[in-house]
Amino acid sequence: MNILVVDDDRFIREIISAVITDAGHTPITASRDNEALPLLENSDIDLVLTDVEMPGLNGFELTREIRQRYPNDWFPIIFLSGQSDEKHYEEGIDAGGDDYLTKPVSPIVLKAKILAMERIANMKKALDSANSRLEKLSTQDPLTKVSNRRDLEQSLLKEWKLHKRKETELAVIMLDIDFFKPYNDTYGHQQGDECLKSVAKALKKCLHRSHDLLARYGGEEFAIVLPETSLDGATHVANRVIDSLKQLNLPHEHSTAASHITVSMGISSTSANSETPTGLLKQADDALYLAKENGRNRSEIFKN
Ligand code: GH3
Ligand code: MG
Ligand code: MG
Ligand code: MG
Repeated sequence: MNILVVDDDRFIREIISAVITDAGHTPITASRDNEALPLLENSDIDLVLTDVEMPGLNGFELTREIRQRYPNDWFPIIFLSGQSDEKHYEEGIDAGGDDYLTKPVSPIVLKAKILAMERIANMKKALDSANSRLEKLSTQDPLTKVSNRRDLEQSLLKEWKLHKRKETELAVIMLDIDFFKPYNDTYGHQQGDECLKSVAKALKKCLHRSHDLLARYGGEEFAIVLPETSLDGATHVANRVIDSLKQLNLPHEHSTAASHITVSMGISSTSANSETPTGLLKQADDALYLAKENGRNRSEIFKN
């Protein structure tokens, strides 16, 4: 761990640093608030040991400042103080500290406290990383690894609000693989799954802006959300999709649209005045059915 030691007494900083080094950690020292805060900002600090009586912010005030600056980034803070009364202890914990040691600090007790805090900090790290893994899983389609429908709905709502606020155009494309049932029947379900994965990968490459979103809507249907994009722009993306599936050239002998896997697409944008994000998707879905009717392997734009 990188352990920040804050104390205005150089002698104490040296003694504590020696204990930290001896315990296998790295000490970083500061004599007061205006040295400690920049260090917290610029280095990766895992634990703070701070004096209470110091010039500038005292240890409790410094702790409040740290907790306020980093509300989502918890690390343990231990006070080292000359005062041992209960009121002081209470105030320290209340300020956001995690433990309180009275000076002179015994090296054995300090090492034990560091070990205990390291354990808690490690558990917190493991919990954070499990949470972010779960978060990712809950928004991802397990087969194709693109966004799932839940993420699509959430992202679309967010983009919908942004388009209202910024008065920009928001476009969506609904895509459906052509003759996918015959594909499964001919090549088998496993090959069907592989096809879905390859198509998703190819679609993803057709999206060039960081805010563009590809989601698996369900079965062999996908949706693309294109913020700040006109119908012309969305048609451009749809044409890119047609070209890239032609390049991908997954053979499909029972398609009347082409000799390879193709998709039909329906496009709509907020220029068609839908009232809700769901309405926008519905418009694109209506246009998709038109694309199916008109021979597949093409895109159609929703018209009121
Ligand atoms: P169209 O050209 O009109 O879109 O016809 P289609 O055969 O693609 O459409 P249909 O709705 O009749 O069939 C969709 C098929 O997609 C049915 C199912 O076998 C297949 N499918 C849906 N989800 C999956 C999946 O996760 N894996 C595989 N392998 N197939 C799937
Ligand atoms: Mg002091
Ligand atoms: Mg379908
Ligand atoms: Mg289909």
